[in-house]
Amino acid sequence: MRLIIFIGPIGSGKGTQAEVVAKKFGLIHIETSKLLEKKFKTADPSDKKMVEQKALWHAGILNDPSWVTEVLLDEAKKIAGEGKGMALSASPRTLFEAEKEIPVFEETYGRDNIFVFNIALSEAESIKRNSGRRICEKNRHPIPNFPEFKDLKICPEDGSKLITRALDNPETIKIRYQEYLNRTEPILNYLNGRGYNILKINGEQPIEKVSEDILKNFND
Ligand SMILES: [Zn+2]
Repeated sequence: MRLIIFIGPIGSGKGTQAEVVAKKFGLIHIETSKLLEKKFKTADPSDKKMVEQKALWHAGILNDPSWVTEVLLDEAKKIAGEGKGMALSASPRTLFEAEKEIPVFEETYGRDNIFVFNIALSEAESIKRNSGRRICEKNRHPIPNFPEFKDLKICPEDGSKLITRALDNPETIKIRYQEYLNRTEPILNYLNGRGYNILKINGEQPIEKVSEDILKNFND
């Protein structure tokens, strides 16, 4: 059983790469926001914490980080219990989450089976790729602003219409990139301190080349 974690700024394509390794190695790709959405849909109305978090979600307010971590770890244990590995593209997102999650992951998967990829992307490239990126109407699949997707009119996964969001304007992307530097990147130091060999990948290459650089770290 393997756990593959992707850490990188917005636009680094970590979700896409997590999909690639999930398909290749038969892993479950977990994106925290999608996991929460699924949980809320099947929420038990007597679960007070869940109801409270669902209300925050619908109001567009960030969910309680310790609760999010709990939900993710529950899911991780369930997946491991079924004998399956995981690919993570959106967590841990903060040092707080990493400190809670990594020790549990180590217990579950064993440190030698945990791979951490840092997909590096400059701020300028992040802004260029994300300004004017599109998402699909049905499942919010992201379509980055890459030349290879320029002529795409519908979502390649579900055929729904592609739309742009106000959130994807250059100023907002700049803030999100800074958030990444301040809150997410410190995780790399933490993992270094725990003895991990972080695999740094140049995220400014075409998608297939990034996948190639990732996959060549595995022997099978
Ligand atoms: Zn879609």
